[in-house]
Amino acid sequence: MKGVTVIGHPLVQHNLTRLRDERTQPQEFRRLLGEIASLMIYEATRSLAVVPLAVRTPLERARGFRLAREIVLVPVLRAGLGMLDAILQLIPHASVGFIGLKREETTLRAVFYHKSFPKNLRRFEVILIDPMLATGGSAVAALDLLFEQGAKGVRLVNLVAAPEGIRAVRAKYPAVPIFTAAVDRRLNERGYILPGLGDAGDRLFGT
Ligand code: URA
Repeated sequence: MKGVTVIGHPLVQHNLTRLRDERTQPQEFRRLLGEIASLMIYEATRSLAVVPLAVRTPLERARGFRLAREIVLVPVLRAGLGMLDAILQLIPHASVGFIGLKREETTLRAVFYHKSFPKNLRRFEVILIDPMLATGGSAVAALDLLFEQGAKGVRLVNLVAAPEGIRAVRAKYPAVPIFTAAVDRRLNERGYILPGLGDAGDRLFGT
Protein backbone atom coordinates (compact mmCIF):
# COMPACT_ATOMS: atom_id res chain seq x y z
CA MET A 1 0.00 0.00 0.00
CA LYS A 2 1.49 3.30 -1.10
CA GLY A 3 2.71 5.54 1.71
CA VAL A 4 2.32 2.77 4.29
CA THR A 5 5.42 1.18 5.83
CA VAL A 6 4.74 -2.09 7.60
CA ILE A 7 7.60 -2.68 10.01
CA GLY A 8 8.23 -6.40 9.68
CA HIS A 9 11.28 -6.49 11.95
CA PRO A 10 11.23 -9.78 13.93
CA LEU A 11 11.43 -8.01 17.30
CA VAL A 12 8.45 -5.82 16.38
CA GLN A 13 6.42 -8.82 15.24
CA HIS A 14 7.40 -10.81 18.34
CA ASN A 15 6.23 -8.03 20.65
CA LEU A 16 3.09 -7.35 18.62
CA THR A 17 2.03 -10.98 18.96
CA ARG A 18 2.45 -10.80 22.73
CA LEU A 19 0.46 -7.55 22.79
CA ARG A 20 -2.35 -9.22 20.86
CA ASP A 21 -2.46 -12.16 23.30
CA GLU A 22 -5.49 -11.69 25.57
CA ARG A 23 -3.49 -13.20 28.46
CA THR A 24 -1.04 -10.26 28.46
CA GLN A 25 -1.77 -8.16 31.55
CA PRO A 26 -1.46 -4.33 31.76
CA GLN A 27 1.98 -4.28 33.37
CA GLU A 28 3.43 -6.48 30.64
CA PHE A 29 1.36 -4.71 27.98
CA ARG A 30 2.88 -1.35 28.95
CA ARG A 31 6.40 -2.74 28.82
CA LEU A 32 5.90 -4.40 25.44
CA LEU A 33 4.22 -1.34 23.95
CA GLY A 34 7.18 0.78 25.07
CA GLU A 35 9.68 -1.62 23.54
CA ILE A 36 7.82 -1.82 20.27
CA ALA A 37 7.48 1.98 20.15
CA SER A 38 11.29 2.32 20.38
CA LEU A 39 11.75 -0.09 17.51
CA MET A 40 9.06 1.54 15.39
CA ILE A 41 10.31 5.08 15.90
CA TYR A 42 13.70 4.07 14.59
CA GLU A 43 12.05 3.19 11.27
CA ALA A 44 9.58 6.08 11.33
CA THR A 45 12.37 8.65 11.69
CA ARG A 46 14.71 7.15 9.10
CA SER A 47 13.71 9.73 6.48
CA LEU A 48 14.00 12.83 8.69
CA ALA A 49 15.81 15.62 6.88
CA VAL A 50 19.29 16.56 8.07
CA VAL A 51 21.59 19.47 7.31
CA PRO A 52 25.37 19.28 7.17
CA LEU A 53 27.24 20.43 10.25
CA ALA A 54 30.98 20.59 10.85
CA VAL A 55 32.41 20.01 14.35
CA ARG A 56 35.93 19.84 15.74
CA THR A 57 36.87 16.56 17.36
CA PRO A 58 39.81 16.74 19.79
CA LEU A 59 41.93 15.78 16.75
CA GLU A 60 40.52 17.50 13.67
CA ARG A 61 37.50 18.78 11.84
CA ALA A 62 34.72 16.28 11.15
CA ARG A 63 31.77 16.56 8.86
CA GLY A 64 28.45 15.59 10.40
CA PHE A 65 24.76 16.39 10.41
CA ARG A 66 22.03 17.75 12.59
CA LEU A 67 18.30 17.33 12.25
CA ALA A 68 16.90 19.98 9.93
CA ARG A 69 13.75 20.54 11.94
CA GLU A 70 12.64 20.34 15.54
CA ILE A 71 10.46 17.37 16.45
CA VAL A 72 7.19 17.35 18.29
CA LEU A 73 5.60 14.11 19.47
CA VAL A 74 1.82 14.23 19.61
CA PRO A 75 0.23 11.23 21.29
CA VAL A 76 -3.50 10.85 20.90
CA LEU A 77 -4.90 10.37 24.41
CA ARG A 78 -5.09 8.03 26.00
CA ALA A 79 -3.56 5.02 24.26
CA GLY A 80 -0.87 7.14 22.58
CA LEU A 81 0.61 7.73 26.05
CA GLY A 82 1.66 4.10 26.04
CA MET A 83 4.24 4.82 23.33
CA LEU A 84 5.35 8.29 24.44
CA ASP A 85 7.92 7.64 27.18
CA ALA A 86 9.86 5.09 25.15
CA ILE A 87 10.01 7.45 22.16
CA LEU A 88 11.15 10.32 24.41
CA GLN A 89 14.01 8.13 25.61
CA LEU A 90 15.25 8.06 22.02
CA ILE A 91 14.39 11.66 21.14
CA PRO A 92 14.79 13.47 24.47
CA HIS A 93 14.98 16.88 22.79
CA ALA A 94 11.52 16.47 21.27
CA SER A 95 8.66 18.72 22.35
CA VAL A 96 5.37 17.09 23.25
CA GLY A 97 1.83 18.07 22.28
CA PHE A 98 -1.39 16.26 23.14
CA ILE A 99 -4.63 15.56 21.39
CA GLY A 100 -7.56 14.25 23.41
CA LEU A 101 -10.11 12.60 21.18
CA LYS A 102 -12.85 10.17 22.02
CA ARG A 103 -15.15 8.20 19.83
CA GLU A 104 -18.87 8.67 20.28
CA GLU A 105 -19.97 5.09 20.83
CA THR A 106 -23.09 5.37 18.68
CA THR A 107 -21.81 7.34 15.67
CA LEU A 108 -18.08 6.39 16.00
CA ARG A 109 -17.43 10.11 15.31
CA ALA A 110 -14.22 11.63 16.78
CA VAL A 111 -14.80 14.44 19.33
CA PHE A 112 -11.97 16.62 20.81
CA TYR A 113 -11.75 17.09 24.56
CA HIS A 114 -8.15 18.38 24.75
CA LYS A 115 -5.50 19.91 22.50
CA SER A 116 -2.14 21.48 23.31
CA PHE A 117 0.85 22.10 21.04
CA PRO A 118 4.05 24.09 21.10
CA LYS A 119 3.72 27.51 19.45
CA ASN A 120 4.58 27.83 15.78
CA LEU A 121 3.93 24.26 14.75
CA ARG A 122 5.22 24.97 11.24
CA ARG A 123 8.79 24.79 12.59
CA PHE A 124 8.34 21.19 13.69
CA GLU A 125 8.30 17.76 12.18
CA VAL A 126 5.23 16.24 13.82
CA ILE A 127 5.05 12.59 14.84
CA LEU A 128 1.44 11.72 15.54
CA ILE A 129 1.21 8.65 17.77
CA ASP A 130 -1.89 6.50 18.07
CA PRO A 131 -1.57 2.74 18.60
CA MET A 132 -4.79 1.87 16.76
CA LEU A 133 -5.76 3.22 13.32
CA ALA A 134 -9.33 1.93 13.15
CA THR A 135 -11.98 3.88 11.22
CA GLY A 136 -9.45 6.65 10.63
CA GLY A 137 -11.92 9.17 12.09
CA SER A 138 -9.61 10.17 14.95
CA ALA A 139 -6.52 10.21 12.75
CA VAL A 140 -8.17 12.44 10.13
CA ALA A 141 -9.57 14.75 12.85
CA ALA A 142 -6.11 14.96 14.46
CA LEU A 143 -4.47 15.66 11.09
CA ASP A 144 -7.10 18.32 10.28
CA LEU A 145 -6.24 20.03 13.56
CA LEU A 146 -2.47 19.79 13.09
CA PHE A 147 -2.60 21.23 9.56
CA GLU A 148 -5.02 23.98 10.70
CA GLN A 149 -2.41 24.87 13.35
CA GLY A 150 0.21 25.26 10.62
CA ALA A 151 1.98 21.88 10.66
CA LYS A 152 4.01 21.25 7.50
CA GLY A 153 5.35 17.74 7.92
CA VAL A 154 3.41 15.06 9.79
CA ARG A 155 4.04 11.32 10.00
CA LEU A 156 1.69 8.87 11.62
CA VAL A 157 2.82 6.00 13.86
CA ASN A 158 0.22 3.29 14.51
CA LEU A 159 0.88 -0.05 16.09
CA VAL A 160 -2.00 -1.74 14.22
CA ALA A 161 -3.90 -0.34 11.26
CA ALA A 162 -7.17 -1.42 9.64
CA PRO A 163 -7.52 -1.13 5.86
CA GLU A 164 -10.55 1.14 6.42
CA GLY A 165 -8.47 3.57 8.50
CA ILE A 166 -5.62 3.60 6.02
CA ARG A 167 -8.04 4.35 3.18
CA ALA A 168 -9.61 7.22 5.15
CA VAL A 169 -6.23 8.83 5.90
CA ARG A 170 -4.91 8.25 2.37
CA ALA A 171 -8.09 9.76 0.82
CA LYS A 172 -7.64 13.08 2.63
CA TYR A 173 -3.91 13.15 3.31
CA PRO A 174 -2.12 11.13 0.62
CA ALA A 175 1.25 12.66 1.51
CA VAL A 176 1.20 11.72 5.20
CA PRO A 177 3.34 8.59 5.65
CA ILE A 178 1.94 5.86 7.87
CA PHE A 179 4.20 3.54 9.87
CA THR A 180 2.60 0.46 11.39
CA ALA A 181 3.52 -2.98 12.67
CA ALA A 182 0.51 -4.63 11.01
CA VAL A 183 -2.32 -4.04 8.59
CA ASP A 184 -5.12 -6.19 9.99
CA ARG A 185 -8.16 -7.72 8.27
CA ARG A 186 -11.06 -5.33 8.88
CA LEU A 187 -13.21 -3.55 11.47
CA ASN A 188 -16.10 -5.18 13.28
CA GLU A 189 -19.50 -3.50 13.58
CA ARG A 190 -18.34 -1.64 16.74
CA GLY A 191 -15.29 -0.19 15.00
CA TYR A 192 -12.76 -2.54 16.62
CA ILE A 193 -9.92 -3.90 14.55
CA LEU A 194 -9.99 -7.63 13.72
CA PRO A 195 -8.01 -9.47 14.87
CA GLY A 196 -6.47 -6.40 16.56
CA LEU A 197 -5.70 -6.48 20.25
CA GLY A 198 -8.91 -5.15 21.78
CA ASP A 199 -9.14 -1.69 23.32
CA ALA A 200 -5.55 -0.48 23.56
CA GLY A 201 -6.34 2.09 26.29
CA ASP A 202 -8.16 -0.46 28.43
CA ARG A 203 -5.39 -3.01 28.04
CA LEU A 204 -2.72 -0.41 28.89
CA PHE A 205 -4.38 0.98 31.97
CA GLY A 206 -6.40 -2.04 33.12
CA THR A 207 -9.77 -0.29 32.81
N1 URA B 1 -9.26 1.50 19.34
C1 URA B 1 -8.75 0.44 20.02
O1 URA B 1 -8.19 0.59 21.09
N2 URA B 1 -8.91 -0.78 19.48
C2 URA B 1 -9.51 -1.01 18.30
O2 URA B 1 -9.58 -2.15 17.86
C3 URA B 1 -10.03 0.11 17.61
C4 URA B 1 -9.89 1.35 18.15
